[in-house]
Amino acid sequence: MNKTGIVRDNRYMDHQAGAFHPESPKRLEVVYSMLDEQDMAGLFQEVPVRRAEQEELLLIHSPEYIDRVASTEGKGPQALDPDTSTSSGSYVAALLAAGGLCQAISMVISGELDNAFALVRPPGHHAERSRAMGFCLFNNAAIGARYAREFHGMKKILVVDWDLHHGNGTQRSLEEDPSILYFSTHQYPYYPGSGAFDQAGRGEGEGFTVNVPLSTGHGNGEYAGIFEKILKPVALEFDPDLILVSAGFDIHENDPLGGMNVTPDGFAGLTRSIMEMAGECCDGKIVITLEGGYDLMGLRDSIKTVLKELAGLSETSSRDMAALADQRKLDYVLAGVHEVHKMFWKSLQA
Ligand SMILES: [Zn+2]
Repeated sequence: MNKTGIVRDNRYMDHQAGAFHPESPKRLEVVYSMLDEQDMAGLFQEVPVRRAEQEELLLIHSPEYIDRVASTEGKGPQALDPDTSTSSGSYVAALLAAGGLCQAISMVISGELDNAFALVRPPGHHAERSRAMGFCLFNNAAIGARYAREFHGMKKILVVDWDLHHGNGTQRSLEEDPSILYFSTHQYPYYPGSGAFDQAGRGEGEGFTVNVPLSTGHGNGEYAGIFEKILKPVALEFDPDLILVSAGFDIHENDPLGGMNVTPDGFAGLTRSIMEMAGECCDGKIVITLEGGYDLMGLRDSIKTVLKELAGLSETSSRDMAALADQRKLDYVLAGVHEVHKMFWKSLQA
């Protein structure tokens, strides 16, 4: 069994985005109560949660923006974006989300943990340098990737983003940086609008952004096929020292915002696929952070299968899952990625 860490803290529930908002504290309530059930209690090591330091936030965000979010502390609802509002506890929750993830990264790098899952909110992948967006305040995954490099000497970091939505904030923050490879699957065209095949990084970072835009209706087989046939060869060629995952469970078949068909077993397969890559590249070092996912039961059940996979309590075959893919759908996607990325990645030239 692996030593798997979890980041959990009731203060994440103090961020309230407004009545009837899908990104509600209930999301973590159902997940935390699942962790306390008899078959899950005691299996995971809790990571001590801390606030992100200013110097960590500054790896991604502007000082003015950090001040803007800080100014919401203790205040009633403040709208930072049409979809993104704060409550009195939002700033601290956001600091604890980024800081909890950084702490988990630190413990996985040091070997205290084999892998970890940060069960945090607010999510992060839409947050840009100076802008809250799409339910996100600070960009947890982007901060975590830079933190691993700047504070722990990791030379190359892979960020895998399987959330339904494109992580525009993560892409924008990292697109000129060849030390951090950003890979995203997402429903397209859809919010936030970015993430076309030909957005492949800029300047020195050209080739180090891999976008896989998808129409609705992709399920376990297609996702596993994309991971096995695109992500895996690129990841092995890139050879990261650490893999971070922006895990959105809004690709679950029952999600109210999404049109994808992934089931809890599918999430286990994607996790296993990434674990195999990490096993070959970086001693299995994976840290997952929670992004979206708005069907409460789907979120709870899927996080459970991901945690069991991380801990080694189940071993799902991603290859068997990929064999179930609708080949026509998969071929279309593979062709789109190959067209753009064969000039950057030898492993995609065949
Ligand atoms: Zn999402």
